Formats: sequence, C-alpha cells, structure tokens
Amino acid sequence: MTGHVLEFLGETKLELGPVGDVQGNWRTGRDDANILWLVLDKADSSVNTISEEVIRELRDHVAAAEADKPAAVVIRSAKKAGFAAGADITSFDRMSDDGAADLLRQGHDVLDRIEALTCPTICVVHGSALGAGFELALACDYRIAVSGASFGFPEVQLGLHPGLGGTFRLPALIGPTDAMTMMLTGKTAHTKRAKSQGIVDAVVEERHVGAAVAAAAKGEIERQSPGLSSRAFGLGQARSLAARQMRSRTEEKAPKDHYPAPYALIDLWEDHGDDRAAMQSGEIDSFAALLKTETSKNLRRVFFLRQALKDAGRGDDGIDHVHVIGAGEMGAEIAAMAAIKGKWVTLGDVETSPLGKAMKTAAGICRDKHLTGPETRDALDRLMPDPNGYGLARADLVIEAASEAQEVKEKIFTGLKDKLKEGAILATNTSSLSIELLSKAAPDATRFAGLHFFNPVSKIDLVEVVRGPETSDDTAGRLAAYCGATGKLSAPIGDYPGFVVNRALVPYMLEAMVLMDEGVSKELIDTAALRFGMPMGPVTLADQVGLDIGLHVAESLQRSLDKPMPPISDDLRRRVEAGNLGKKTGQGFYDWSDGMPHPDADLDDAPDDLTDRLILPMLNACAEVLREGVARDADQLDGAMIFATGWAPFRGGPMHYAKTRGVEAITAALKKLEEAHGPRFAPDPGWSDIG
Ligand code: NAD
Repeated sequence: MTGHVLEFLGETKLELGPVGDVQGNWRTGRDDANILWLVLDKADSSVNTISEEVIRELRDHVAAAEADKPAAVVIRSAKKAGFAAGADITSFDRMSDDGAADLLRQGHDVLDRIEALTCPTICVVHGSALGAGFELALACDYRIAVSGASFGFPEVQLGLHPGLGGTFRLPALIGPTDAMTMMLTGKTAHTKRAKSQGIVDAVVEERHVGAAVAAAAKGEIERQSPGLSSRAFGLGQARSLAARQMRSRTEEKAPKDHYPAPYALIDLWEDHGDDRAAMQSGEIDSFAALLKTETSKNLRRVFFLRQALKDAGRGDDGIDHVHVIGAGEMGAEIAAMAAIKGKWVTLGDVETSPLGKAMKTAAGICRDKHLTGPETRDALDRLMPDPNGYGLARADLVIEAASEAQEVKEKIFTGLKDKLKEGAILATNTSSLSIELLSKAAPDATRFAGLHFFNPVSKIDLVEVVRGPETSDDTAGRLAAYCGATGKLSAPIGDYPGFVVNRALVPYMLEAMVLMDEGVSKELIDTAALRFGMPMGPVTLADQVGLDIGLHVAESLQRSLDKPMPPISDDLRRRVEAGNLGKKTGQGFYDWSDGMPHPDADLDDAPDDLTDRLILPMLNACAEVLREGVARDADQLDGAMIFATGWAPFRGGPMHYAKTRGVEAITAALKKLEEAHGPRFAPDPGWSDIG
C-alpha cells in the first residue's frame, strides 16, 4: 500500500500514510508525527452531513484509534463547502417511526468514546459546523477554526433541539447562558464571536493549520476553560429562575402550543442541568419525542420546500450588470441586494432625491447584514446612481420598479426600444398589472417577464418569476438563476391577477376590514390570526403594506377576477383619502407612533367563525390558483406562501394545512361561511382535485 495526499480548500496538502479503507465517507491515515487524520468526505455529495453511515464508519475508526494509540486524532472535512451542515435530515422521517432513541444512543456512544480517547483530539473547522457537525466538534479536546468558520445549532428551526450531546457539552464549554441562547435562537456564532465565547481554542489561516495541529497535539495550545456561570447554575433554584426568564422570552417569538422544542430544551436543562448523565439520557428521549411531533414534521417539510425553491434557482444567469428603473421603496432595495451579491448595478429615477436616499438604504442594508468594511465598500462601489440612464445600454437585465400605473410603465418600455443591449432581459416588479398587457409595450416580449419582489426586499426571500404568454424558457430560467445568484428563492408562476401570493393575501386583509365594519375589534381580529400562527394579523399587515397600496391591489383584483371578493370598506377608502396610510405615515388602522402594534385580545369574546373567516379565504384562493395552473403544484404554493408571508411554518403551508385538516372539512366549513356571510366563501371547484 502507498500513501496518499489530501488537499484542503485548494490551499494546503497533507501527505498521509497507507490507508486501510478508502471506501465510505471518511478518508483516513497517519502523518509523519503519527497523528491519525479522520477526514470527512461524504460520498456523492458536495456537502458533509452526519448520517447513520458516517457515524457507523466513525465508530470503526475510533475503535482503531483506541487499539493502536496514535499521537493525536484530528477530525476535519475534505469539502470546500465547510465542515458539516448537520444531521442528514432526510433520515429523520424514518427515524421518527421507531428506533430513534437507539440510533441516537449509538451516536452518543461514538462521541463519548472520542471524548474518552487518551490522546489529544483536535477538530479543525472551516466553513460552518452546524447541528450534529458542531456536536462532533464539541466531543474533541480542541477546536481550531480556520478564519471564516461558524458554529451553530439550527435544530429549533426544525422543531428539535440538539440530539448528539450538544445540550450538555456546549453549556459545559461556554456556560449555560450563552449556550442556551445559541440553542434556543438557532443563531450562528461566526469566528470572532466563537473565539470570544470560548467555542474555539485557536483561529488560524488555512496555511497554518498544520502548525496549529502540531501545537495542539503537544498540548501547547491553551484550552478554553469552562465559564464561571456553569458553577452558578449548579443550583436548582438558580436554574429555575433563569428557565422562567427563558420561557417568557421564548413565548414572545414561539408560542409553546405551536413550537414545543425550545420549551423541551428549557425543561431538560432546568431538571438536569447539574447532572450530565441525566442530561444525556433526557436529551435522547426528548429529541426522539420531538421528532414525532407534527410541528417538527412540518418544519422539516418547510426545510425541503426551501431546498426545492433554491434548486429552481441554480444555474448561470449570465447577468453581470443590472439596471434598475425607479429608486423608490422597492427599486432601492432591489438595487442594493444585487450590488451586495456582486452584480454591477446602475439605478435610475426621474427624480434625483430618491437616488441619494437609495444609497443610504444600501448602506443600511450592508449594516443589517453584518457586512465587513471592505465588503460594504465593494458593494457600494458596484451601485451607481444613474439619473441619465447610461447603464441601460450595458445592462444584461433591466428591472423596472417605477410607480404602479399602466401608462407609466408602458411609456418607460416604449422608450427602451433600441436602447437595450442585444439579448438583455426586461423585467417588471409590478404587483397588480397584467404581464400580458405590459408585454405588448416591451421591446421584445420573449425577453420580458414579471419579477415580483416583496417588501422589504432585503428581508423577504421569495420572488415570483411571472411568465407572460411569450416569455421564453431561457428568459424564465435566467431570471430564476438571477434570484438564486442574489440570494433569493424563486417561484416560477403564471400571469394571474395578484399572481399567487397577493391573490391569497388580499381576501385575508379585506375580510378583516369587513369584520371591523361589523364591529369586531382590530385587536380581536389580529389576535385570532396570530393564535392560528400567522406572523402578523391582517390589520397590522394592511398597515404595514400601506393602505394605499393595499387598496390599489384590492381594486385591481376586484376588476380582474370573476369571483366575488370581500367588499372594499368605506373606512379603508376614507383613511387613504385622509393620508393615513399605515406604518409609513405613523397612522393607519393602528397608531404606529410607538412602533409595531402588539395586539393581544381575549378570544373568548370572538365570533366562533372568526379564524375560519380569515384563514379559509386564503386557502380557497390557493385552490383557485392551483386549478388555474398559476402555481406549479401544492408544494411550490406552500413554499411561496411561507417564504413570502411567513404563513404559519409549523403548519407546513396552507395546502398542507388543508390536507391535514381534511379537504372535506375545509369545503364544509367554507359552505357554512357561504351560508352565513355570502358567496365570496363558496368553495372553489379546484378542491375536488386536491387530495
Ligand atoms: P415608490 O413610489 O416608492 O417608487 C417609485 C419610484 O419610481 C419613485 O422614486 C419615482 O420617482 C420613480 N419613477 C416614477 N416614474 C418613473 C419613470 N418614468 N422613470 C424612472 N423612475 C420613475 O414605489 P414602490 O413602492 O417602490 O413600487 C415600485 C413598483 O414595485 C410598483 O410597480 C409596485 O407595484 C411594485 N411593488 C411594490 C411593493 C410595495 O410594497 N411597495 C411590493 C411589491 C411590488
């Protein structure tokens, strides 16, 4: 047998002695200093995940290390993408049926054995170490971070908490306060923070990893000592007090009925925080129980919906330069996001003041996204105010985000004839105008489509890519790839009044206004929606969107749909006329002068059918857009609603909720509402095709 050479990040090489087994997911061997390297290189994948197989193979490698005692053991990743993205979520469904606890115990056993090795164990992390990947790193004596590395436990986003020892190893390392915050929020610690919190013992550039490993193997790197607070929380009383505070903070963001995982973690720590063995067996049982909850199943579904939308945006967009027309609320953020993601951007407007404001908006977004100084400078360098539209001739993509009026947009498009680069795409961000009608004014209808961003563009992931009748596949594909390249999730859909998301949301907001006309308080209405799991009640949402915009979209939908919609309330029109437009003017249905309203009413006084009156019209509109072929399928629609509106993720999306509650039950409830409140609730014929 001969030795073999491994390369890391295209920068460093490592020569290892003969390998016993080159099959499987680990590449292993010893270096000149008798250090055993276990290098994770998950087969057939560009990313490492910690699967059952990975753990089983690791057990054999650890057994070999126990038997013939190397000078040290190093665990690292061969993937450019990073250390490990976490557990293999695809296997969770199988695990939740039975045997989850057994499998977890086997995983714990392997990590415990790594911890018990008598030689130094060193984990080298580049990129991210998430979930089970982080837990593997925590089982080692030393963690060496390559600059840029990050660590986190995103399990709560899947309705779970760490399950491979994270719940006791992280508190032991950095103290319970920081550790619980990390696990409860799912937030990632980047290199600098990871070092200051004590997660890593050293931070080095890739070219110095060899030297750092040699130093750690000789015990020359000082290990982080456990936080003092670990001891303070040894007392049950101190833990109970802290646990109460954690529960009340968590309740603000994730109510227990909908999101049980954080509470299970807090209980676990409160009950067993001073007893590692009890914590370990409690963690296993609690994780196995959470796997079976509907919340976790639905949140895992949401994870895969996101993956599918991401996959739709892969590929080369062939777009280097973007020109944005209109530097208002939307155009400014569209331009900023493109520049942050590496595009050259020119930004035009008929007025000059929005251009100056847009540059400030861009700087603010860089700050919010924690860009470094040089990254911010580069992004702002790429974004150029262009009042004369010189960039039009160089742009591969022109995004029109000017005022929402057919004649304004038509005039802009007509003026673009002969001005665009050969092959350039023109996209409109209209939220209510027909793409088909607009395409008639476009220089080339095959290279024209809707690119419907949501407000605020920097925070909402979804973009609807709306095809007109003549939009070419190439155009639709490049626009989806553009979304992917600029960090967005794209949903390719058909041209339809309100497209998908607004078609579903408008009845939610209008029905709330009908209810207010009937005398139901806005607080009661919003509370009912929040308790259902919506991120915002419909009245708050209408204020947030802007009552003028809401009114405009509602009128446009009413004109173009041949189905009855909730009537537009006089109250809404009066508020718009008076200039009380919601959040942006400080006064809408709510007074926003003290910030976001937090309605919390007693639902005992609510009409029995209140929640259904708000939620079912959205589902009915979803059935309609599916029947009309506007959305591709129920999964795409669920993803679009969740990533554009935050639609109750723990319910897995509106169509998934409909199927869980039962299509028959939904149509029966709609019929009841129809009898009580009118034909706008009539079940859509599309329900008969939804199983
Ligand atoms: P806005 O009023 O904030 O900005 C529009 C900008 O376009 C203004 O700065 C205006 O000066 C400029 N403009 C007007 N005519 C122009 C022309 N001929 N050439 C260049 N610039 C021109 O509007 P907004 O909220 O940013 O909306 C822009 C578009 O995005 C609209 O089509 C709207 O329907 C759509 N949209 C808005 C939202 C939202 O929530 N605001 C959400 C999704 C889509």
